[in-house]
Amino acid sequence: MLRSETREQSDFRQEVRRWLNENLPDHLRFLTFRPLPKDGMPWYRRLAERGWIAPHWPKKFGGMTATPVEQVIMFEEFARAGAPDIPTQGLNHLGPLLMKLGTAEQKARHLPPIVSGEVIWCQGYSEPNAGSDLASLKTRADLDGDYLVINGQKIWTTWGHHADWMFALVRTGGGANKREGITFVMIDMTSPGITRKPIRTIAFDEEFAEIFFDNVRVPLTNVVGKIGDGWSVATAVLDQERLLLGSPATALRALERLRRFLRLSRSRPDERQIDLVARAEMEVDALTACFLCLAEEEAGGSTADASYLKVFATETTQFVLDVLQDVVGPLAAVRAAPYVGNERLDINEMFLQSRRLTIYGGSSEIQRTIIANRTLGLPK
Ligand SMILES: Cc1cc2nc3c(=O)[nH]c(=O)nc-3n(C[C@H](O)[C@H](O)[C@H](O)COP(=O)(O)OP(=O)(O)OC[C@H]3O[C@@H](n4cnc5c(N)ncnc54)[C@H](O)[C@@H]3O)c2cc1C
Repeated sequence: MLRSETREQSDFRQEVRRWLNENLPDHLRFLTFRPLPKDGMPWYRRLAERGWIAPHWPKKFGGMTATPVEQVIMFEEFARAGAPDIPTQGLNHLGPLLMKLGTAEQKARHLPPIVSGEVIWCQGYSEPNAGSDLASLKTRADLDGDYLVINGQKIWTTWGHHADWMFALVRTGGGANKREGITFVMIDMTSPGITRKPIRTIAFDEEFAEIFFDNVRVPLTNVVGKIGDGWSVATAVLDQERLLLGSPATALRALERLRRFLRLSRSRPDERQIDLVARAEMEVDALTACFLCLAEEEAGGSTADASYLKVFATETTQFVLDVLQDVVGPLAAVRAAPYVGNERLDINEMFLQSRRLTIYGGSSEIQRTIIANRTLGLPK
């Protein structure tokens, strides 16, 4: 929790806490997985009605223009209440990108349904041979009159099997530089020729999917930016995206689990474990402070190197969950033992799910290379 708050900030915290107490349904509290659309989207829409679905968006597009401190207050109170994860591809990726580069028609058509929760978006970037090396992507889009005709495959598409729309990178041309000839396009997922196959993760949830395109026709009005200019379109809001991936929200959720376990469990941690718990608390505090610094810089207009924050946030979450494993002991390895007392904590599932954090949105290795090259100026 922030150590010193103004009167206004502390009133806002109380308001968020009270509202969550009154409005967050019990069956959605302290889930380890993102609830399926039938359960999760009503909650998304409830937040939207309250005006709290897009704190970082400008008010004119339905957001809150929330300050970084207000955002952190929300992360902390949502973690404390055990609020579930919601789909963020529209809120954190496409929305900010359209605000910056979309046409007036694209903004008017696509931004309101993201905020209201009528439409679920997915991100179609990765392919079987194009993950970290994204520019190697091969999904082809050929020009045919006023349409692009798309053939190929995407993989690891979060909520690809639930989404109404996908924003994707497709290849419309070649060139010596692999980053040339890529186009950013929005695809209606009900278009004929799309096949979706869910993929099961090590945590046994079906969070993502493979998506196959067989002569899928997409109007040229769905292209964002110019044909062949997709790389610069996709990276236009990359720092902002990494900043959001580096928010303390997930680490705070993990810390709340650790605190709850310690409150509920009859066993007492030993001295070494108490040190670990204290370090977990301090790491999350440091992460929150770091997020505030970078977010304030971002709000002021300069571009911070958010790669550092992404590594810090995801590895801190993993550390907190490692500490949880340590204090729980051997039972943490048992999948069929999700309860502590009468409360469901799913410690094993949380641990398994946290492995993915350092892979998506650019793996830790890739982020460290960026830090080495751009921040430290080390030779390539
Ligand atoms: C939970 C989850 C959700 C995801 N959601 C989406 C989504 O919605 N949309 C989407 O498009 N993609 C999504 N992804 C895919 C994600 O972006 C890729 O998994 C990621 O970019 C890594 O690519 P890859 O899996 O092909 O692994 P690879 O790129 O093959 O990497 C394998 C390993 O090699 C390392 N490595 C690779 N290149 C280098 C290098 N140059 N230097 C040092 N180390 C290197 C990597 O760090 C990694 O450890 C998701 C992934 C996960 C785990």
